Amino acid sequence: MANLKIANLRKAYGNHSVIHGVDIDIAHGEFVILVGPSGCGKSTLLRMVAGLESITGGEIRIGGNVVNDISPKERDIAMVFQNYALYPNMTVAQNMGFALRLQKAPKADIEQRVSNAASILGLERLLDRYPRQLSGGQRQRVAMGRAIVRDPKVFLFDEPLSNLDAKLRVSMRAEIKALHQRLGSTIVYVTHDQIEAMTMADKIVVMHDGMVEQIGTPLELYDNPANLFVAGFIGSPAMNFIEGTMSATGMKDDSGTIWNVGKSHGAVAGKAVTLGIRPEHLRVDPQGYKAKVYVVESTGSETQIIVDIGNARLVCLVRDRMAVRIGDEIGIGFDPAFAHLFDTASGDRLVGASRLAA
Ligand code: ADP
Repeated sequence: MANLKIANLRKAYGNHSVIHGVDIDIAHGEFVILVGPSGCGKSTLLRMVAGLESITGGEIRIGGNVVNDISPKERDIAMVFQNYALYPNMTVAQNMGFALRLQKAPKADIEQRVSNAASILGLERLLDRYPRQLSGGQRQRVAMGRAIVRDPKVFLFDEPLSNLDAKLRVSMRAEIKALHQRLGSTIVYVTHDQIEAMTMADKIVVMHDGMVEQIGTPLELYDNPANLFVAGFIGSPAMNFIEGTMSATGMKDDSGTIWNVGKSHGAVAGKAVTLGIRPEHLRVDPQGYKAKVYVVESTGSETQIIVDIGNARLVCLVRDRMAVRIGDEIGIGFDPAFAHLFDTASGDRLVGASRLAA
């Protein structure tokens, strides 16, 4: 296993540039997730690390060595794809040992490594089955087993859970995270699903249009998003945004509401700013802003109250069961310490919202 350094990495298809100079440092044993909307360049970046895609500019180092011109086989990397086609006429054990047989590894060695991987993945009793006799989750584990037997320097995962149903995805998330802890391996994992990223990663790289928007731990990104893009992408339901102008008493929106955004942001009066508040930081408060209930949605464990305050429509997430109905007039409040403030023109963060940042 090894560390991975990506420096000023660029990719163009013909004269269409899709990765515009990306820098990412991944420590030995770290689980890093690249997340971003479809088309932002995640898979292209991963495929460049794997050696499946040529590099237009910049450098990739694995364990200190530049691998730009090294063939995929020699990079000592294992990749698990979204479409993890297993060989249908091979058993689980044969599927897992296939790459080693191609390398002409000794038979006893192959058996030993397959058996180790099977015990790590809980596949011991399925080794003689064929893929058609396995559930979706078991097949995904066999696909991971094929990677583990090779004991690579770095594991690459490209949306490995996106073909599984919602319930299985949740349990596989936990399995992959536990697997990382057992193996202590360096993992680079690509997904468009921010919840997958938040729940599994040591470090998240948020990408957008071929660039890195922010790199940090899941909670750093949640507490201190660097800009409007990251603020809106991380967190579910998404952060509420209200545009306005700074005044002496707070932020004034286009319907005249003055929002108390706290003090430490240093935004000058007259500046166009965007206030961000997470749904879970809004609360029902009779002393709060005068709001009209637009919709109420309950999942049993929590309730989303969607309200209109002036022209702003906000999602408010509460754990308590609330006797509120559509059309009710209620008060909505929030602690200004949780207010995020952004420069509307550049999108950059202006104020530390969390208590951590204060
Ligand atoms: P993501 O994985 O984030 O969905 P991709 O890395 O697949 O994004 O794609 C990034 C951009 O590169 C997209 O605009 C896509 O259309 C483009 N792209 C990907 N592969 C090719 C290719 N072989 N030829 C031309 N453009 C490509």
